[in-house]
Amino acid sequence: MSQFDTDLIIAGGGLAGATLALAMARVLPEVRVTVVEAFPLAAAALPAAYQPSYDARSTALAFGSRLIYEELGLWSRLSEHVTPIRRIHVSDRGRFGATRLDATEHGQDALGYVADNRWMGLCLMRELLDSQVQWRAPAEVVDMTAEADGVRVVLNDSQGRQSLTAQCLVVADGGRSGLRETLGFQPRHHDYGQNALIANVSTSDSHQFCAFERFTDAGPMALLPQGGGVRPGHQSALVWTLSDQALADLLERSDADKCRLLQERFGWRLGRFTRIGECSHYPLKLTTVDEPVRPGVALVGNAAHALHPVAGQGFNLALRGLMTLVEQFRLATEQGLSLGDARVLRRYQQHHRQDWQQTVQFSDSLIRLFGPDLAPVAAVRDAGLVGLDLLPGAKRWFARKAMGLGGRRAVIHRPGGPNRESSDHA
Ligand SMILES: Cc1cc2nc3c(=O)[nH]c(=O)nc-3n(C[C@H](O)[C@H](O)[C@H](O)COP(=O)(O)OP(=O)(O)OC[C@H]3O[C@@H](n4cnc5c(N)ncnc54)[C@H](O)[C@@H]3O)c2cc1C
Repeated sequence: MSQFDTDLIIAGGGLAGATLALAMARVLPEVRVTVVEAFPLAAAALPAAYQPSYDARSTALAFGSRLIYEELGLWSRLSEHVTPIRRIHVSDRGRFGATRLDATEHGQDALGYVADNRWMGLCLMRELLDSQVQWRAPAEVVDMTAEADGVRVVLNDSQGRQSLTAQCLVVADGGRSGLRETLGFQPRHHDYGQNALIANVSTSDSHQFCAFERFTDAGPMALLPQGGGVRPGHQSALVWTLSDQALADLLERSDADKCRLLQERFGWRLGRFTRIGECSHYPLKLTTVDEPVRPGVALVGNAAHALHPVAGQGFNLALRGLMTLVEQFRLATEQGLSLGDARVLRRYQQHHRQDWQQTVQFSDSLIRLFGPDLAPVAAVRDAGLVGLDLLPGAKRWFARKAMGLGGRRAVIHRPGGPNRESSDHA
């Protein structure tokens, strides 16, 4: 009989927490996992009942993330409703520089995929409800104390306050609930002084499965191809960076005015903007935690790092980190160590650190170099984009970053399955 109520507690069942739970169920089925999620479970809304809405929010999954979901046995279901990104067009408004990445140049059919967040959540939930993972929802983790070889986690649910013991707590609460701070982690924030406006838009021309990254004097914008809609191929997901003032002005405008302003910023590569859906917006910050582990507890997903969404790297980085963590948990069980053992969590941090640092730097430098106009960097960025197009090595490096193939991933060992070395799919 184990001395703990469960082995691993995951605080937060969003995309990161649910993916970690699934990876644990696949790789270490003997380890008892409990997910504590603040929202009630929507068990009735399973994939069979799925109808995408015009305003669905989506995530750009890099090609490397597809490989991870393939290894977790989720891709065949997930791929029913994803849109491939076959090309990426990077340009600088009013400037000469532009570069184009094409999946065929890298021997793949797609550089990445656009997936509806709700669809991803439903697919994960469907798999998890069929697994041995336990759910406590709606319930919130509010505190944790370290105990000999493990942790005591305090949660609040409809029954009131109670505690659960486990070998380890993984915090995947998205960083907004304050659990990270309650537990004494010290995030560093860099405020970009800008906001991301998110909306789905329709265009008169088909996107032809091309994603656009466009840098303007007011900040970067991205358009990701989406499937479905009344005219399939004519809908894209917009991420538009705006200052506080520009955002306030834009939100006051009619939809027709918003389309007109977007047209001025983006140009005519997708023809005319004919519709803009519901707009949501977020202040843009880079949040990182230098030491995301301590004995008994680790931060993952947005709780560990929140990046600028225009480069579409945040969740992809989180996924690679989750696989690294699961691999260290697997080694810990082989070596008879507790999942929360300081050595186990430190090894996870060491193995993920380089990818984490490089991805944060990649994402941040895109924003600093291509952000609001700074005369001294304008020439550098022109040279950068032209250089990317002319230098096969630089372009290939950029493409591999965008595809989520820049670093090595953890080896995924599944019981009874082939142990596949993380391929770099060079
Ligand atoms: C506008 C925007 C666009 C983006 N686009 C991309 C993209 O294209 N590609 C990409 O790779 N990344 C993208 N990202 C990043 C990506 O969305 C995040 O990395 C991802 O959603 C993080 O998931 P998470 O599970 O860490 O956090 P969340 O999705 O925030 O989930 C946290 C979960 O924890 C629960 N919770 C909170 N507090 C508690 C508590 N105390 N106890 C229990 N449960 C709790 C919440 O209910 C929630 O379900 C984007 C981000 C933004 C903001």
